Amino acid sequence: MTPPPLQSVLPEGVHPFPHRHLLGIAELKPWEITWLLDQAEGWIEVNRGLRKRDDRLAGLTLINAFFENSTRTLLSFEIAGKRLGADVVNMTVAASSVKKGETLLDTALTLNAMHPDIIVIRHGESGAVQLIAEKVDCPVLNAGDGRHEHPTQALLDALTIRRRKGRIEGLTVAICGDILHSRVARSNFQLLGSLGAKVRAVAPPTLVGADVDRLGVDVYTDMDAGLDGADVVMMLRLQRERMSGAYVPSTREYFHFYGLTAARLAAAKPDVLVMHPGPMNRGVEIDTAVADDIARSAISEQVEMGVAVRMACLDVLTRRSRGVPGW
Ligand code: ASP
Repeated sequence: MTPPPLQSVLPEGVHPFPHRHLLGIAELKPWEITWLLDQAEGWIEVNRGLRKRDDRLAGLTLINAFFENSTRTLLSFEIAGKRLGADVVNMTVAASSVKKGETLLDTALTLNAMHPDIIVIRHGESGAVQLIAEKVDCPVLNAGDGRHEHPTQALLDALTIRRRKGRIEGLTVAICGDILHSRVARSNFQLLGSLGAKVRAVAPPTLVGADVDRLGVDVYTDMDAGLDGADVVMMLRLQRERMSGAYVPSTREYFHFYGLTAARLAAAKPDVLVMHPGPMNRGVEIDTAVADDIARSAISEQVEMGVAVRMACLDVLTRRSRGVPGW
């Protein structure tokens, strides 16, 4: 059966983004994704300029509630909020001090009582962000929940690929490493698949994850076969904080079979793009020479695109409350 044609351009008369929250890629139509990427595109030059300021969120309060550690995502949301003129407050809670159930809901009600205009949440439990979103009066943006979703990461990855390759449809993208524990992989499988890329999950059998079959990707347990002819190779970190047992014999052996080296990358297309969401573990999933290869590595560009994507999302999600016409 031939698949239906890809509808990635906003159909006439359709609202570009009818959602109150951004909880995951799963809820987005292909044209909503493309439209968000177009919005983000507009912030790239602003961020490259001297005065990176637009006051459309002036007077609005953004709370970044991070129940799990983060460096780049938290900083990226903070910078994005400040560049849009919002008052940004960061709440970071060590995972160990947070309890599930009532405590989480109590925290949500506490945050809500302070009248934020938008809340960005990262949490170690899959589904926790949705739970909070149901209890608060403002839009909620998921900055990573357990192994479930990390939508702004997938959007920034897509923006990076689209700018470097000129398209997403038809590209072969190999996502390699600890798929089992990765929300980045899950959001990317859905986004890239929905925009017409051929997506591969490349991992040792212990780290593939039982749900990947449902996500429409081709599974490879042999790294060389998985990289063969790839346009984009996205490496993932071994997420030890989510592992309860030994999933790999040793990091040395893991690098031997699944580490990305220049020799191994030769199986991919000559103009392959190398990506990594960070934080990188050099010598574990990626060799330093590949990570720092400026011709092929887009890792710094991913960080740059992250700020633009988050500015776009903060702008879009607050349009209704700001009374922007049509929203
Ligand atoms: N920074 C990404 C995340 O929060 C990837 C990682 O932690 O390895 O999921």
